[in-house]
Amino acid sequence: MSEHFDILVVGAGPAGIAAAVSASDSGKRVGLVDDNPAPGGQIWRSGASPGAEADQWLTKLNASSAIRLQGWRVIDHPERGRLRAERSQECREFSYGQLILATGARERFLPFPGWTLPNVMGAGALDAMVRGGLPIAGKRVVVAGTGPLLLAVAAHLSRRGAKVVAICEQARPGRFVPFAAHLLSEPRKLLQGVSYLTATRGTQFYTGCWPIAATGGEKLESVTLERSGTKWDVRCDYLACGFHLVPNLELAGLIGCRIDDGFVSTDELQRTSVEDVFCAGEPTGIGGVDVALLEGRIAGFAASGRITEAVKLAQRLKRRVGFVRALRDLTALDPKLKKLAAGETIVCRCEDVSYGAMRKHAGWRAAKLQTRCGMGPCQGRICGTAAEFLFDWRSDHDDSHVRPPVFPAMVSSLRTTHINTEHDDSLIVPGTSTSISKETP
Ligand SMILES: Cc1cc2nc3c(=O)[nH]c(=O)nc-3n(C[C@H](O)[C@H](O)[C@H](O)COP(=O)(O)OP(=O)(O)OC[C@H]3O[C@@H](n4cnc5c(N)ncnc54)[C@H](O)[C@@H]3O)c2cc1C
Repeated sequence: MSEHFDILVVGAGPAGIAAAVSASDSGKRVGLVDDNPAPGGQIWRSGASPGAEADQWLTKLNASSAIRLQGWRVIDHPERGRLRAERSQECREFSYGQLILATGARERFLPFPGWTLPNVMGAGALDAMVRGGLPIAGKRVVVAGTGPLLLAVAAHLSRRGAKVVAICEQARPGRFVPFAAHLLSEPRKLLQGVSYLTATRGTQFYTGCWPIAATGGEKLESVTLERSGTKWDVRCDYLACGFHLVPNLELAGLIGCRIDDGFVSTDELQRTSVEDVFCAGEPTGIGGVDVALLEGRIAGFAASGRITEAVKLAQRLKRRVGFVRALRDLTALDPKLKKLAAGETIVCRCEDVSYGAMRKHAGWRAAKLQTRCGMGPCQGRICGTAAEFLFDWRSDHDDSHVRPPVFPAMVSSLRTTHINTEHDDSLIVPGTSTSISKETP
């Protein structure tokens, strides 16, 4: 069963919502596919009280003619102009004239002893769970890693009554100077930063500091922190730990969009290297919600032929490039973090593969074939990204090695998928232990 859209947007975060709203103003038939039950993406996800800006955009989306395909996860791009998606036990195809990829980003995790203990979570993940109802009042929380998300999460948890006992940012103080200079040209972010600092007043904020171990019995009880060679233990109930964000590039890679330096390459109108395919938001560079909205609007206007509007907005986007670069420089990982994992530390949580088992191999592909790392339900989204940093390997998430399905899928959805099994005897249906035989139709 296939449904046709003049413009199809994948991802209903801020970038995708802005793209769908802008494109639907043109009278084109626009579809917005997203794998969550409600639109909003990472920052405005359901269960949150997202605020005035989110309300405005969600209202615009509801008022627009864009058809919302909520709960559908795109798993494949069988051929030009066609996407395949799954929802519950259903599989459908959507065909398109123009495609806008707005697939967002995910948190980066780095392995250290104890990082798999219950109550050690991603910073964004804990934040989302609290927004979803997890009681946090009175709980002691250490927030660690890198990036502005740490302060945003610490502020939100504090407002919900958590005792944030430490915020540990791996970047050293010198890195904050150029970033702060760019922040001066972003008054909205500056105000936001001030409100976060106010909410976390009294909390210890350490720079050049990170967790080296998490310990506990059945769940987390304490975290060992290190700063300039000094180590100390902090008792806590939760460790919220994320090392900034990494873009979701799998679909762009599968379609064949050029990836430069870890991000989808686009021109000033958000056009990728593939004809009729645009990209907006975090996959083109981690720039926060304002940049995501702007890029989404540009892509929506450009895809629907409203080039004058798109060009005007592109001028505004240019002014923000400096901020995106400053954020990237601020969050560049300290090479010392490569030493966090011990030999027995699990790197691939899905398949229980340790750092020691992985480091014996020359590259990601060899490690994957020999140890099954990256072959579990997350398909290397966590360990592949960690391995890129730990071992300087290229995982297969951001280049031409991406193969369908980009998410674990039902075998029935794969039956007619054009999977190239010619060169790979070991192809495994993600999320299962079932090999696909070459006879699979
Ligand atoms: C907890 C948290 C707090 C944050 N706070 C701030 C803040 O205060 N200020 C700020 O500027 N930024 C903040 N950010 C960053 C902000 O979320 C991002 O900048 C913004 O959401 C990027 O929007 P996006 O549309 O590019 O991607 P996203 O919001 O990530 O949306 C992408 C959407 O695409 C969907 N998707 C991906 N692949 C597929 C697929 N194959 N099929 C179907 N759907 C798919 C995803 O599920 C998601 O819904 C925060 C992030 C988090 C996690």
